[in-house]
Amino acid sequence: MPRPSDNETVQLRRQLNAYIKQAQENEQKLNRLQNYELKLISTSSLQELFQVLLCDYKSTAQLTQVTLELFDSDYEIRRLLTELGLDARDYPGLRFLDDEQELPADFQSDEEIWLGTFNQDLHGRFLSEPNNIDGSVAFLPLIRNQVRLGALIFVSDDKARYTELTGTDFLVRLASFVSVCLENAINNEKVKRLGLIDPLTGVYNRRYFERRLEEEIRRTARADTPLACLFLDIDHFKQINDNFGHGIGDSILQGVAATIREQLRASDVLARIGGEEFVALLVQTEHQRALEIAERVRFSVAEKIFNGAGGENITATISIGCSSLRQFADTDDAAQVAHALLDEADQALYSAKRAGRNRVLS
Ligand code: GH3
Ligand code: MG
Ligand code: MG
Repeated sequence: MPRPSDNETVQLRRQLNAYIKQAQENEQKLNRLQNYELKLISTSSLQELFQVLLCDYKSTAQLTQVTLELFDSDYEIRRLLTELGLDARDYPGLRFLDDEQELPADFQSDEEIWLGTFNQDLHGRFLSEPNNIDGSVAFLPLIRNQVRLGALIFVSDDKARYTELTGTDFLVRLASFVSVCLENAINNEKVKRLGLIDPLTGVYNRRYFERRLEEEIRRTARADTPLACLFLDIDHFKQINDNFGHGIGDSILQGVAATIREQLRASDVLARIGGEEFVALLVQTEHQRALEIAERVRFSVAEKIFNGAGGENITATISIGCSSLRQFADTDDAAQVAHALLDEADQALYSAKRAGRNRVLS
């Protein structure tokens, strides 16, 4: 075999170096992608997923804009977000489509990744701020089990970033990963909503409360912060039902729950744990402060006027028993501590009932 000339050797070496450089870059890219996928997997809520998808990725990948378009023809996802207390406006890159036809013609019915030059008329809508850029776009359809969930759109101010010649392996992998995470997150939120919320009042149910109580007790013990528990029960509710009917009874239950909720902080936990019985966990709250909050809750319920079927005014009162975690700090069995905390609040409630109702005792 003839020996390559010096010139050829130089060229071969150059080419080899270019391949090595490309391989190193790909490896770095793969590492970044794997780290990012790990981050996506470990999100535990839709809110976190949006954060990782729309905000974190934009800065990690140095993109001008990341837009997530979700098909939501029956408003299911939007309703879910409202119920979770999320405001879609907090995520400028998040958009909902009622219909696939709303996608730009370039992308329509296309199940393949599309890469190309940014065109203001076609793609300008994917920028959260009007900005005529000289760059490129990647369109990644999000499909799961043959169902189109939506699309991810990356906009870069680098014209060479996404071109017809750019390899799509990384993007294909990212799109299928995001599709799975998205579907999981939406399903999880639905399950959470169905399984842990009391359908009548919209506050948490007993199952959620029991789980959360132990969690809060462990956290409280670790952080050495105070935790208070209120047991609340509507007074003479049977009479309200007997006098005004079960339907009005239900609407008063809803009104009482909403009134209690209004007086608590967002971080406090309110649950309906029986027919007309509620519990509230007041995190990082000293006993004296908890008594003040309980009094405020009691007062606001007593002040409230509910309407009967014929428009008549109805009032209701509640009794509240209050307990605090400080006394139990020496034991570390969360389940046992939870039981004792609830039991003490229940006994205080019983005393409040015996003492004449419409009052707070501890
Ligand atoms: P007390 O002041 O001692 O708490 O008296 P009470 O009448 O509130 O207590 P009791 O436990 O005797 O009765 C509770 C009533 O709550 C009886 C039950 O029919 C009613 N109740 C329980 N769940 C519901 C519900 O979901 N809707 C309606 N309308 N009533 C309910
Ligand atoms: Mg009652
Ligand atoms: Mg009761």
